[in-house]
Amino acid sequence: MEKPSVNLETAIIHKGYDSKQHHDSLATPLYQTSTFSFSTAEEGEDRFAGTCEGNIYSRLGNPTVRVLEDRMAELESGGGALAFGSGMASVSAILIHLTKSGDHVLCSRGIYGCTFGLLEMMEEKYAISHDLVSMTTEEEIESAIRPETVCLYIETPINPTMELVNLEAAVNVAKKHGLRVVVDNTFSSPYLQNPLQLGADFVLHSATKYLNGHGDVVGGILVGKDADEMQEIRMTVQKDVGGIMSPFDAWLLLRGMKTLHVRMDRHIANAKQVLEFLKQEALVKKIFYPYDENHPQFDIAKRQMRGGGGLISFEIEGGKKEAQAFMNALSLIQIAVSLGDAETLIQHPASMTHAVVPPESREKMGITESLMRLSVGLEHSDDLIGDLAAAFEAVKPKLQEA
Ligand SMILES: *Cc1c(COP(=O)(O)O)cnc(C)c1O
Repeated sequence: MEKPSVNLETAIIHKGYDSKQHHDSLATPLYQTSTFSFSTAEEGEDRFAGTCEGNIYSRLGNPTVRVLEDRMAELESGGGALAFGSGMASVSAILIHLTKSGDHVLCSRGIYGCTFGLLEMMEEKYAISHDLVSMTTEEEIESAIRPETVCLYIETPINPTMELVNLEAAVNVAKKHGLRVVVDNTFSSPYLQNPLQLGADFVLHSATKYLNGHGDVVGGILVGKDADEMQEIRMTVQKDVGGIMSPFDAWLLLRGMKTLHVRMDRHIANAKQVLEFLKQEALVKKIFYPYDENHPQFDIAKRQMRGGGGLISFEIEGGKKEAQAFMNALSLIQIAVSLGDAETLIQHPASMTHAVVPPESREKMGITESLMRLSVGLEHSDDLIGDLAAAFEAVKPKLQEA
């Protein structure tokens, strides 16, 4: 895969937009319109036929949304990108595009809860089956492939245990068997990991998270290696299922994304401080952070990621009651799902994001009752550590009683 023509920090501000085509407007204009007028009936005919360039109707393309799509294609080294109304709309679009009845999807051992829900529905309604396997070595992946397998669907790092998939191994096996590779890159953002450069065919994001970074948009992005194939998805699944992104959300995303690199550097710096604090706290039993020499797959992390991002999961002494008491004792850190915002957020996977997973499967995935996931934000790290320290102090007497 070719490297981008400019560095990410530059591309994220400039690529995909030319002010000369928009009345010299420095900021990308918001084209808040559902439809576009044709000068003549013949021009309308030509646009529908694809023999002349131009907009038709915002479900088929919108200039504001197109800037975001072109920029994301550049950031992920893809041939084309499509913006959707949510991360899940991009997940469903690529799965619908790649599969048909009778096919099999091989997934990493952990996938986003709603992606799992969608695959269960596809199995029940359309006989498209799936398996979840650990993907750390080529042998593990190879042994789970079936004759009807069509794609590898990968999330790395895996939420919330930060287990990694070896992308190089996955791509090698996929090439050998003619399988497509899809990577959900939400946790890393294009700043820290570029699966297409490592040989994947598609990369997708919940743009709701780090890409937007300001907690005010729900959106999704799908980037593909091949421009023609992305155009085909635009004019089939995206057009006909219709899960498009609104122009206003694209506009907010273009604004939020301009600081992705600046924000990610601070998320990482803050996460490191919080990590060091958690390591010396006696009540912390286990810590999960991919970019740490104690992570069992740190070598994989270093090969495919430029940094560990802002998510840290940790287990404390005790169970659910103690975890809930700890969360309730926090005052600055907000109890909320989602991630990648300026605000530091904490959630309890066993009772929140992974509550639908049966307890036995949860245990197998390493999601215990006292596990919490922290999305380290952009506040001053001393204030975050102060809040965490106070919460540990508050639960200490309870734990000593027990
Ligand atoms: C949030 C999330 C999704 C779903 O995205 P939405 O924008 O909420 O639809 C998919 N994958 C991962 C890893 C996520 O964190």
